[in-house]
Amino acid sequence: MGSVPDGRPGADTGLALERAAELLRGARHGLALTGAGVSAESGIPTFRGEGGLWTQYDPVKVASIESFLADPAAYWLVSRERGRVALAARPNPGHLALAELEAAGRLVAIVTQNTDGLHRDAGSRRVLELHGSGRTVECLTCGRTEPRSEVQARLDVEMPPRCKHCGGAVLKPTVVLFGEPMPAEVTQEAFELASKTDVMLVAGTSLVVFPAADVPLRAMRSGARMIVVNAEPTPFDRFAEVVIHGRSGEVLPEIARLTGG
Ligand code: NAD
Repeated sequence: MGSVPDGRPGADTGLALERAAELLRGARHGLALTGAGVSAESGIPTFRGEGGLWTQYDPVKVASIESFLADPAAYWLVSRERGRVALAARPNPGHLALAELEAAGRLVAIVTQNTDGLHRDAGSRRVLELHGSGRTVECLTCGRTEPRSEVQARLDVEMPPRCKHCGGAVLKPTVVLFGEPMPAEVTQEAFELASKTDVMLVAGTSLVVFPAADVPLRAMRSGARMIVVNAEPTPFDRFAEVVIHGRSGEVLPEIARLTGG
């Protein structure tokens, strides 16, 4: 939770939580944008921030379409370990709070940069996955898809994994790698919602990956008020009406509780 220097939640944080709840109570088209930080408390490492994966790997080397095509086995060796963690992960109280806010009509949808599927597991219904889903893989030759869980089970004996249907082409997770376009329809829907939203709740994202970070920009340009919940400062904090620096698994349930169903 956001805190004063002695480590206890301070009066400022209490006021910010109240203000966030008040904004969401009045929202007619509330919209959330989430990022990797929302799943950190489910045990899935973020890219940036403390303990982020980018302190260990060069993302362009492991997560770009160019490097995938050049050496799919190198990509899958990293993905095998990340997949183990992501498939075992369960929604945390932050995901559950967002599902509650949607069920109560305070949010119309969640736009997420996450590929882990945890928002849906938590019960969120309208989830726009800007960067695709890590729950399926696709054949780059015949286009057929398979559940990631089935492919995960054979990664110890087959590296890189190959398509069972079309005679051995390499499989790729249905996630958007660096250098790939974002899914057109989902992206368009996200921007349309951003133009209509009156309250934009941003949680667990460094807001440095574009065009995802254009979603709150679009919302602000259309007159929305913004709430930012993140473990550390973001470049958008100065535009937000409410900024809470803390863990989304603690802050979001408190906001949902104060919003009051
Ligand atoms: P990011 O890694 O760039 O930033 C995460 C942010 O979350 C950081 O600013 C960090 O301070 C903050 N954070 C960490 N723990 C937090 C917590 N408990 N509560 C609140 N905030 C916390 O993530 P991004 O902005 O989503 O962009 C990175 C890209 O990485 C996205 O494209 C996404 O597709 C991908 N990614 C996805 C997952 C996932 O699906 N869970 C995980 C890692 C990366």
